[in-house]
Amino acid sequence: MRKIWVGLGMAFLAGAALAAPSGGKLVECESFSDLGGWVVDPHSMRQIGSSYVMAHGYGKPVRDAVTTAKFPAAGRYAVWARTRNWNAVWTKGAAGRFQVVVDGTALPTELGTNGKDWDWQLAGHVELPAGKAVEIRLRDLTGFNGRCDALWFTTGSETPPNELAALRAWKKKLGQSRFRDARESWDLVVIGGGISGICVAQTAARYGVKTLLLQDRPVLGGCNSSEIRVSAGGAINMGPYPALGNVLREIMPVHGDYVPLPAKFYEDERKEMAFHTHGLPARAVLNQYVYDVEKGDDGRITAVLYRDTRTGEEIRVKASLFCDATGDGVIARLAGCATMYGREGRDAYNEPNAPKKADRQVMGHSIQWITRVDAKPVDFPDIDWGLPITEETVGYVRGGAWWQEAGQYRDMADDTESIRDYGLLAIFSNWSFLKNHAKRKAEWANRAFEWISPIGGKRESYRVVGDYVLTQLDLEGQKKFDDGTAVITWDVDLHFPDPRNEKAFGEPFRSCALHRGYGDPVAVPYRCLYARDCPNLFLAGRDISCSHVAFAAVRVQKTLGMLGEVVGMAAGICKEKGCTPRAVYAEHLQLLKERMTKGAPPRAQYCAFWGGLHEKYHFPDLGFIPIWPHPATNLTPQTVEAIRALKMDHRHKHPLIDGVGELQVK
Ligand SMILES: Cc1cc2nc3c(=O)[nH]c(=O)nc-3n(C[C@H](O)[C@H](O)[C@H](O)COP(=O)(O)OP(=O)(O)OC[C@H]3O[C@@H](n4cnc5c(N)ncnc54)[C@H](O)[C@@H]3O)c2cc1C
Repeated sequence: MRKIWVGLGMAFLAGAALAAPSGGKLVECESFSDLGGWVVDPHSMRQIGSSYVMAHGYGKPVRDAVTTAKFPAAGRYAVWARTRNWNAVWTKGAAGRFQVVVDGTALPTELGTNGKDWDWQLAGHVELPAGKAVEIRLRDLTGFNGRCDALWFTTGSETPPNELAALRAWKKKLGQSRFRDARESWDLVVIGGGISGICVAQTAARYGVKTLLLQDRPVLGGCNSSEIRVSAGGAINMGPYPALGNVLREIMPVHGDYVPLPAKFYEDERKEMAFHTHGLPARAVLNQYVYDVEKGDDGRITAVLYRDTRTGEEIRVKASLFCDATGDGVIARLAGCATMYGREGRDAYNEPNAPKKADRQVMGHSIQWITRVDAKPVDFPDIDWGLPITEETVGYVRGGAWWQEAGQYRDMADDTESIRDYGLLAIFSNWSFLKNHAKRKAEWANRAFEWISPIGGKRESYRVVGDYVLTQLDLEGQKKFDDGTAVITWDVDLHFPDPRNEKAFGEPFRSCALHRGYGDPVAVPYRCLYARDCPNLFLAGRDISCSHVAFAAVRVQKTLGMLGEVVGMAAGICKEKGCTPRAVYAEHLQLLKERMTKGAPPRAQYCAFWGGLHEKYHFPDLGFIPIWPHPATNLTPQTVEAIRALKMDHRHKHPLIDGVGELQVK
């Protein structure tokens, strides 16, 4: 059975244009049958109420997104688009403009010009026939990230609701909500398919834990995927448990660099294929965004609810254990667990690098991008909606880099769209200046964008309080924990908004860093890997329990991947002993240590080597027929004849086949 399920039923998509009782019809854009060059963004689903599509063309209009819909009644329809002018948060003008085209007719309004917030904008009116499939297109006009959530066709005069609760209720009334319970239940559900989540799922399954991995993107890997392109840093197979890292080694790309590379280097398929291992009780399901949890009276999570980012189908899945590997602490926050965000003040843990007073500053979000050099000069629009870049502030850059960072003062989990947008605005503004105005523009004449990440990568977001919070003092004090697991092999690498950039632009889009060593690698305590406030919630990846400063060292992928392996091992113990993550520390720590010492069971080998001097034939319909050491005796004359026809000499003579005994006929 295929174990990666790209959650996308085309039959379902065909039904995505929904008839309203009033004669109106809602068409969700992420459900268009052909997305053309538009990309689906689910990351603000909780804020917007849905995924949306975006024309991510780096300044060149992308191919139309196309679908069809039938309308029950003929008439003159008003067509509304739920959209926004994304750059209006910071600048004048409208970067991402698009039109709706119905049966070949472009409706008059240039959409995406309506204001900085999501709202319905009237595209125009159109006469539609009854019962005939009408073609609907989203036509990008700029290539600069115009976006659309849904289209509403109505013969009435009402504006559709926009406020989130009202919008949800309205969609429900339209029959928009499609909900079902999952057919299977699981031992462990891991939410978030970055390096950490993959390592948890892969390891847990090797201990017989039936594991479901839910990932909201079309590929696995998170920051390490071809969609974001951050290479894995840190070291594996060292410290008190050198066997940690073996699972990571199987799924991690072979090559990496500190700059973004072409897509193939991130080996998305390698991560996906790990879930095809024969007999492994693990499944990864892509394009599924977890938006809610259900809890029992004892505070345990009993189920998570997730939504297909294309079809909108909603599913409830139950399990006895869960793991938050979302990087944003999404599950822990939904479950009401205590979380940490920003920088703890000096008073919290007395850390040398903590600010005097706590604040909500985090390390920023970065959009990776790469360019190419063409044979001829390549134009780029001299945009009038960009940031005011000058010769003093321009970055003479040819691609993405660690210091191109945004969102340091925003909420990484709840303001994801604006943070990504500001990163894009900075890239486009800088590039437009480089190509059109910079003193050294001749050097950039033939250079063109090859790729820009449509989502970008988050360095830091919500961290969840576990039974222990790792701090800078632990690292600098070289603390040896009884429950130490994988070791940290990265400096305290703290990023800050670059003060010069912040002064020039108000909201920063560049950063600088402080590296501070602390001696030898320190092993992260197991107690940082489960939530203090929810009895059955493991933590993996960016949201584990540590202070902001300690996080600056823990956060690299090889460390987080190994910690994911530890969580997988602990989940195996929870299943075997029927215990909670906390009880693994309190009652079964020795067993966890034995597992970390031994390392996760290797992937089942596909291997025709049994050792020894045996001989046996293998016929697809008859199975194995041993010649030696346990000669088959119960052979039909046809089998004997077939084997003799192969004319093989046997090292050990078979009594029946080689004529050294009597033939027993069945
Ligand atoms: C620009 C940049 C440079 C960096 N440089 C380095 C470096 O050089 N070396 C290094 O090792 N590390 C580096 N890091 C840090 C490192 O990439 C991350 O800390 C690490 O990848 C985090 O892994 P993760 O699995 O915890 O999270 P992620 O990789 O963020 O994966 C989490 C996944 O969960 C998914 N998800 C989130 N919410 C939901 C939901 N509700 N439902 C379903 N799925 C969900 C997300 O889409 C994502 O795919 C860098 C990070 C950035 C952004």
